[in-house]
Amino acid sequence: MARVKGVAILGLVKYIKKYSKEKGKSLDDIIKLMTPEDQKIFSQKILPSEWYPYSTYINLGNIIDRVFGKGDHSLSRELGKISAQTDLKGIYRVFLTFFTPQQIVKKISNIWGSYYDRGKVEIIEFNPGKLIWRLSDFPEIGKFHCKNIEGWNEAFLELTGYKEAKARETKCQTEGSPFCEFVLTWKE
Ligand SMILES: [Zn+2]
Repeated sequence: MARVKGVAILGLVKYIKKYSKEKGKSLDDIIKLMTPEDQKIFSQKILPSEWYPYSTYINLGNIIDRVFGKGDHSLSRELGKISAQTDLKGIYRVFLTFFTPQQIVKKISNIWGSYYDRGKVEIIEFNPGKLIWRLSDFPEIGKFHCKNIEGWNEAFLELTGYKEAKARETKCQTEGSPFCEFVLTWKE
């Protein structure tokens, strides 16, 4: 079973805490909606660099999208942006500190491996203003996650200094494709 770093789960927890008053739902209310296995994980402190079951991450994401959003994954996209902004200024700031934008884009595979222990990342096309990359070997991926990646990629490009960044998933493993394909565009 695929695993995810605690930092991804903590990003979602942070969001819940930030909006719990406004939405009238506490973190405990949300955890109660999760499976007994997930609840067991939340009974202990979640550590940023530890590995956790991928399913827990997806379950939490889906619940947030349903309870705090409209259940159409538009919030999932927003959550991806928030995670990128937080993590790339925090735990993974090294990715923005030591590389030029071109080099960072080529580091997508390393960045992927710092969040997930499953999935193969390949750059299909990288030209001025356009990047296409694919994610394969991740059959259990959840749509919450794909939408989250779109948002994460957009924020990532913006943080590396690209303007008018857009990221769209054009093929998806949840819809029968052997890979998820993301098309990123920006203004040079
Ligand atoms: Zn997908």
